[in-house]
Amino acid sequence: MKSRTDNTRLKGVPGRYWHFLDDGRIQCDLCPRYCKLREGQRGLCFVRGRQDDRMLLTTYGRSSGFCIDPIEKKPLNHFLPGTPVLSFGTAGCNLTCKFCQNWEISTARQMDRLMDRASPEQIVEAAIAAGARSIAYTYNDPVIFLEYAVDVARIARERGLKNVAVTAGYIGREAREEFFHWMDAANIDLKAFTEDFYHRLCTGHLKDVLETLEYVRHETGTWLELTTLLIPGKNDGHDEVSALSDWVAERLGPQVPLHFSAFHPDNQMQATPSTPRQTLTAARDIATKAGLWFIYTGNVHDRPGQSTYCPGCHTCVIGRDWYDITSWALTPEGRCEACGSPIGGVFEAQPGTWGNTRMPLRISAA
Ligand code: SF4
Repeated sequence: MKSRTDNTRLKGVPGRYWHFLDDGRIQCDLCPRYCKLREGQRGLCFVRGRQDDRMLLTTYGRSSGFCIDPIEKKPLNHFLPGTPVLSFGTAGCNLTCKFCQNWEISTARQMDRLMDRASPEQIVEAAIAAGARSIAYTYNDPVIFLEYAVDVARIARERGLKNVAVTAGYIGREAREEFFHWMDAANIDLKAFTEDFYHRLCTGHLKDVLETLEYVRHETGTWLELTTLLIPGKNDGHDEVSALSDWVAERLGPQVPLHFSAFHPDNQMQATPSTPRQTLTAARDIATKAGLWFIYTGNVHDRPGQSTYCPGCHTCVIGRDWYDITSWALTPEGRCEACGSPIGGVFEAQPGTWGNTRMPLRISAA
């Protein structure tokens, strides 16, 4: 993938994770693309580029919008259920997924998409004023705006808020240590379970994502959930779903929640049909047989597929209807009320009551 030269001077804040190569180019080490840039060139993500012999992040302090969402929409089903989260993103992405459902943001080349300007302090203040319990770095991949996300996250933590990353997990080894240090929870896409899929549809590598998942699960305190968007004919075959589920069970453990969500025609894949509900249900059955404890369906109305069941006695411990919590049978310690089995996650004595509401927020004028 070629880097691009921009005729205009890049403006932004200094970016981290890069070094000079012997041939005079700069290599960005933030993600496994390792873009190699000459003066004036931008990386594939478009928002990072070289100016005056250093890397700049050009989207610091600029957002594509702010919204208060239910935490279940991220999706996170085991992290402060029922609570509101302030969500925001910027522009650009370090993967090129043909099926992207946020493509207007992720492929944004014009910064006019970045309507809202907000400092880290303003974002945290807005989250507190709105009653949010956490801030989500989402819509486009927060890896590419790491410096902005970390500055917000640092202040958020000081002020008693949690931080949530929604990411594809395509991040370099050194950078991931800093990034996940600040994240209390993450939903990471496991987009498929073949290198061929990542190569053809995302121009990325599965192995790098698997490495991130093992790192987050075993070497950080970040609560981890996974999402796989099942696309008809691309990654929804029995053998692939089975291999993916087996890997999660063996390498991450059965307590890591896995969300199978439905594809809808989008971006460069308008001709591919929506995922039938039966495909999601079948995937859930396969993952159950693989030994996973918490498997969810997403982007469809499916109360049983969106509720949480105790792995010990199969009691429904959290009932859901879309993002509404309809029943709650957890002890204040996060155990099943019926049998006492621990349900992994971050729980409080009672769930929040935010429900399905989606509330756009304007933090400051452009
Ligand atoms: S973050 Fe990734 S895509 Fe962006 S410049 Fe760095 S290596 Fe390239």
